[in-house]
Amino acid sequence: MAAGAARQTDEAARFSARFVLAYRWIAAAVGLLSLGWAIFFSVQGIWALTASQSVVALVAAVGIMLSARGRLATALLLTQVAYLFSIILLCLVFDVPSAEVPRVSHLFLLVLALVGYLNFKRQPSLLQKGLVGACVLAFVGISSTSYALPFAQPIDDAIRTYGAWVNASVATLSLMACVYFFQLELQRPDQRGQELKAALRGHQFELFYQPQVDRAEKTTGAEALLRWKHPVRGYVPPGDFIPLAEEIGLMRELGFWVLETACRTLEAWSRHPETSQLTLSVNVSASQFLDEGFEQVVLQLVDRFAIDPRRLKLEITESVMMTSTDLVTAKMQILRSIGLGLALDDFGTGYSSLAYIRRLPLTQLKIDRSFVQDVTGNERSAAVARSVVQLGRDLDLDVLAEGVETRDQFVFLRDCGCEEFQGFHFGRPMPLADFENTLARRAA
Ligand code: C2E
Ligand code: MG
Ligand code: MG
Repeated sequence: MAAGAARQTDEAARFSARFVLAYRWIAAAVGLLSLGWAIFFSVQGIWALTASQSVVALVAAVGIMLSARGRLATALLLTQVAYLFSIILLCLVFDVPSAEVPRVSHLFLLVLALVGYLNFKRQPSLLQKGLVGACVLAFVGISSTSYALPFAQPIDDAIRTYGAWVNASVATLSLMACVYFFQLELQRPDQRGQELKAALRGHQFELFYQPQVDRAEKTTGAEALLRWKHPVRGYVPPGDFIPLAEEIGLMRELGFWVLETACRTLEAWSRHPETSQLTLSVNVSASQFLDEGFEQVVLQLVDRFAIDPRRLKLEITESVMMTSTDLVTAKMQILRSIGLGLALDDFGTGYSSLAYIRRLPLTQLKIDRSFVQDVTGNERSAAVARSVVQLGRDLDLDVLAEGVETRDQFVFLRDCGCEEFQGFHFGRPMPLADFENTLARRAA
């Protein structure tokens, strides 16, 4: 879990590092340009422009400083708002188009809009959306007219002739830099998808086993939890790659590998008296379960490995029930007909109706960790947990509590009538050899 958290931070950091870099380059380019103009106008004695360009340069410097202190969101908002107003002011007061020289300052509005959009993709917010819209609207408005405010002080064309070239070049380069960074971001899932496919071909996946125990704390089985053994990043938890596997259509293949490996383990366990009675629970994602022919694949595997189907449990989540009840029930009935166990995972976190759950041929309810966490510290949580356990029992299902981390939680849940338990208190998910060694040690 710690490795997972570290990797997630690493992911976020990789994205931010690239984004921060893009932001700093553009802010530095605009800041230097404005500083140059401020110096130029001060030499010319045009003080209004010296002041406005100095403000832009100062905002760029503050923005870079804030981003260096890890306050990118504040830096971005400050720069966007300040630049939006200064560009509009510059266009309507100083950079007034003439017959000879066009207006170009408004080109920076496109850069602002793109940076804003990149930020919006990273972290969607209404404010950011509004700022992007304002930049685009201002750009369209200013590009379509030569309007200037009544008190405008147009810069001399002799200066604007060069200014147009310099400003248009910097704005175009900044725009290109934005598009380049944007493209890098778009490629990211694609690259990770390729990496994931290569991992499956390169046998980089592994199943970890987390013990499940009964009321006497005796191990009765395990849950198989998928890990990606990445050559550089170490063990990657499923939350970090399963959504992508779903997105790129790899889940069917990956899910098959998990089931096949689990059946192979059950077959090996069936040959030893110490392990022959163990059950193995396998997680099945909604898309995998609803896949046409999924149940036939499971039946074939059970047949091929000649395992006792009662030792295999499939864990589905409430999201499966978003689909037609009849289809789900029919699939479940085929699996149940040969004696396979069917568990409802993360119970209580979804939105399915109880009437619906009652009609499904389930065998086990796995009470989600969120109900277990507070049972010993909070009377309301204790009451909820007690009711959930009772509900499972009323539905005539085996009730397993997930995420049990302390002895007090275990004792409380056991006293509520819960029959099975899983959590760090009894053992973390571990490689097969470790799981088997632990079992052997306990037996000895
Ligand atoms: P899940 O099926 O609910 O699995 C339990 C998760 O809780 C596991 O995370 C496990 O490491 C963690 N856990 C167990 N005991 C404790 C505890 O006491 N405290 C805390 N804080 N956590 C505990 P993991 O391995 O990261 O798996 C996350 C989810 O990924 C699983 O949730 C399951 O939905 C999915 N998953 C795992 N393997 C597979 C797979 O082979 N196929 C599919 N489709 N999904 C999988
Ligand atoms: Mg599970
Ligand atoms: Mg669960």
